[in-house]
Amino acid sequence: MKTKLELQKVKVLRQREISPGVFVLSFPRIWDFTAGQVIGLSARETDDSRLYSIASGELDDEVDILYNINPEGRLTPWMSRLNTADTLWVSKPFGSFFSTPGPGWWIASGTGIAPFSAMFRTGLAAGKKLLHGGRDLKSFYFEEDFLPALADKYVRCCSRQEGEGIYKGRLTQYLNECESLPSDEKYYLCGSAEMVVEVRDILIGRGIPFDNIISEIYF
Ligand SMILES: Cc1cc2nc3c(=O)[nH]c(=O)nc-3n(C[C@H](O)[C@H](O)[C@H](O)COP(=O)(O)OP(=O)(O)OC[C@H]3O[C@@H](n4cnc5c(N)ncnc54)[C@H](O)[C@@H]3O)c2cc1C
Repeated sequence: MKTKLELQKVKVLRQREISPGVFVLSFPRIWDFTAGQVIGLSARETDDSRLYSIASGELDDEVDILYNINPEGRLTPWMSRLNTADTLWVSKPFGSFFSTPGPGWWIASGTGIAPFSAMFRTGLAAGKKLLHGGRDLKSFYFEEDFLPALADKYVRCCSRQEGEGIYKGRLTQYLNECESLPSDEKYYLCGSAEMVVEVRDILIGRGIPFDNIISEIYF
């Protein structure tokens, strides 16, 4: 998505390719934010920005952005070539995809895991179940953080490969097979429009009130 926003220049601290074509870009935190918010990023002050969820915690000194390269895209191929001390332009954080403390479900596809990483790193994971859908075994970004802390409350759903401790199938299939989906808990969905719409329909079909479904669509 393209957006015109007021931008500030920042210097890249680090860039890591954590999976083929998937990067974490870090720069110093220059504002406060609430876990779940997004920022605009662009190559030049006058360019349209693209939106990205913050993946780091509210009190971390550095801001992490998780993104995948869109080979035909305007920003991400350029962004993936940035090195330490290169500059990019960022907006102030905004958005209202916030999680309440206590029981609830965090449901993500692909890089839609980013806001849940921010919430996890901010200390909001108690009582949460985290579902992450991905195509292959390299799609479970930040699993090294989630797995030790969340154990069986962290479910990786892999549609194209099998692996130890991984549910084989799409996350929609996992949800359909769940015997109990509590109607008094909140369900937070983040990722592709396809996933968000499918999951929302499953939840509504299982009697979850519409007000308990909160979503952020990446487009
Ligand atoms: C709220 C929100 C949060 C998001 N958070 C994240 C995140 O944390 N991580 C993440 O990876 N992504 C996130 N996104 C998606 C992100 O904003 C970008 O859309 C994505 O990274 C692609 O950017 P790009 O500049 O590389 O591609 P773009 O240049 O936007 O191109 C995207 C696609 O559109 C096509 N296209 C571009 N211009 C045209 C045109 N004029 N006519 C026809 N087709 C065209 C391109 O061929 C390409 O296939 C988020 C989106 C939203 C709305």
